[in-house]
Amino acid sequence: MAEAAAARHYRRGGARRVTASRRLAPRAARPPAPLSWQRAGSGGGGRAEAALRGMEPAGAPPQGCGPAREAEEPPGSPALPPEELQGGQPARQSPGEEALPAAAGRERGCRGAGPQGPPGRAARGRGRRAPGRRGGEEGVRAARRPRVTVDSSKAKTSLEALKISLRQLRWREFPFGRRLPCDIYWHGVSFHDNNIFSGQVNKFPGMTEMVRKITLSRAVRTMQDLFPLEYNFYPRSWILPEEFPLFVAEVRMMKDSDPSWKPTFIVKPDGGCQGDGIYLIKDPSDIRLTGSIQSRPAVVQEYICKPLLVDKLKFDIRLYVLLKSLEPLEIYIAKDGLSRFCTEPYQEPSLKNLHQVFMHLTNYSLNIHSGNFIHSDNVNTGSKRTFSSILCRLSSRGADVKKLWSDIISLVIKTIIALTPELKVYYQSDIPAGKPGPTCFQILGFDILLMKNLKPMLLEVNANPSMRIEHEQELSPGVFENVPSPVDEEVKVAVIRDTLRLVDPQKKKRKDTQCQTLEHVSEANEELLDAGAAERPESDSPRSPEPGLPSLCLKQVFPKYAKQFNYLRLVDRVAALFIRFLGVKGTTKLGPTGFRTFIRNCKLSNSNFSMASVDILYIDITRRWNSMGIDHKESGMCLQAFVEAFFCLAQKKYKSLPLHEQVASLIDFLFFILSKIGKE
Ligand code: ADP
Repeated sequence: MAEAAAARHYRRGGARRVTASRRLAPRAARPPAPLSWQRAGSGGGGRAEAALRGMEPAGAPPQGCGPAREAEEPPGSPALPPEELQGGQPARQSPGEEALPAAAGRERGCRGAGPQGPPGRAARGRGRRAPGRRGGEEGVRAARRPRVTVDSSKAKTSLEALKISLRQLRWREFPFGRRLPCDIYWHGVSFHDNNIFSGQVNKFPGMTEMVRKITLSRAVRTMQDLFPLEYNFYPRSWILPEEFPLFVAEVRMMKDSDPSWKPTFIVKPDGGCQGDGIYLIKDPSDIRLTGSIQSRPAVVQEYICKPLLVDKLKFDIRLYVLLKSLEPLEIYIAKDGLSRFCTEPYQEPSLKNLHQVFMHLTNYSLNIHSGNFIHSDNVNTGSKRTFSSILCRLSSRGADVKKLWSDIISLVIKTIIALTPELKVYYQSDIPAGKPGPTCFQILGFDILLMKNLKPMLLEVNANPSMRIEHEQELSPGVFENVPSPVDEEVKVAVIRDTLRLVDPQKKKRKDTQCQTLEHVSEANEELLDAGAAERPESDSPRSPEPGLPSLCLKQVFPKYAKQFNYLRLVDRVAALFIRFLGVKGTTKLGPTGFRTFIRNCKLSNSNFSMASVDILYIDITRRWNSMGIDHKESGMCLQAFVEAFFCLAQKKYKSLPLHEQVASLIDFLFFILSKIGKE
């Protein structure tokens, strides 16, 4: 990666800006190819869903496309060299294009600004032009307001897109950091920075750990135990090496009960990205258990054999999701995303084609090496397209795109509901209540595969989705250059810019001031004001602090649809109990005394369940979880182990109910008991 940054070339509008020497050596950092590397070109349900049906689809028009590195940004990605931190180029679009309405975008062959509102390449605002015509009083007020300050010194590969966003917003960038605190800290990789005591950071503590393949699979499985139908959007998975015997036994059982079942499985190393180390198998006995699995745990998953194909090719979707706040939970989804295509026509997996990486894996970082990879501006033919171009296509074939979107929104909300309990444990550990610290938000990359019947399936969640807006092109063997990728820029700059707009600290201050003013207004007047504001599009509002900016590309889905999903948030409440009994601030694990106190305070021990049994339960579960856990830094019971113990207690107390009702009943009972103690 370091070499890639050092050998960066830019070509903007035909003129090439060479910032460093060409990389002449072949790529050293190319991921190993567990599947074949033949050059393809040269031969080579539940309640929630029903309630969501009414939601509108993205509707964003397809835009031009061109490929870019789409994988997760691995830790340690290099920052851009200093001269680029200052770099700016004039915008190349007439101001009129910026306000292009959605329909106009569509008429122009689906290029340009979409309803998600990227102002287009012209409105990149590379430092020279104002984002809009700030007229009259508003302009004067805006000019007087102190500008929002952003520390971009750790933005790494998202720096270029961040810079463009900041220029569009006219915010102040501190590319080398600042001695005074900034309003926002933009980190390219992870939350960790011990010197931030205020403001906002674009990463949550613990997110990287939470979305690793094993941790995500465990968190989803807990939800699948409680709500199997609601969480059937994640392929059946087993964790290796510890669940290998279970994997073998379950597959044998399923094959016995249905001899026509001829499954394929995909083995994915934990913590891997860009398709690194992934391979397909037909039988559990094909797992390479020796060496690598022992030292590098993995997830083995049922392979989705019948994906939706476009142009006979398999593709997946990268959607950007903003987790704006954990408490209260606030989630936004970008109205457009990217579709990444395989480069070899798809065939259902057979022993003959199992190893064909360009047929089965949609990773950009792999397919870019195929001779069939198409760098194209044409939204219908390239190997990377906007998701909205796929939706247009599906819609023209009569597919129910509205339902597809509501299913995707539901998948995103449910996945985040699965992640939040543990995230809250990390959060209180890194930023204990009462200690000065920043608040957090984070852009996540959801990788989704559509099945033939249009059912979306979650493949994985990326804590650091690539925000690069250029892609590498191999000019001749071993010689690479970076060229701008319009489709990446359209989608990613809009996501970053609108994330910033949503977390704008000054907007919050203005809101607070407005609230104080409104306190003097009669209730009736207040309602009128609110109704008016809700109907006015953000960019058109005369009082909008962001005149000239397009409407937000991020759409709130939570708490907007909270009512349909709140019943799923049981583990969140279990986590609240866990955190309450953690006792020592800054820890993530519950000690034996904390567990005993929990049992005693909640009056869960009785003649049938002695304190000695409590200790045995604690020791059994804790030992098992610690033996398979990744985090050995702290001893004690982790949240997942506590959840397992909690489920045991719920089953003991409410025998005949389904698991989720047992758990819900125990939670209600315990909160009732604890509220009584609180009053005593
Ligand atoms: P990585 O983080 O290494 O990219 P992924 O989980 O995203 O790992 O898997 C890589 C690719 O493999 C995906 O983009 C997708 O094309 C394919 N893939 C992953 N899981 C499945 C699955 N269960 N069924 C079908 N294809 C899958």
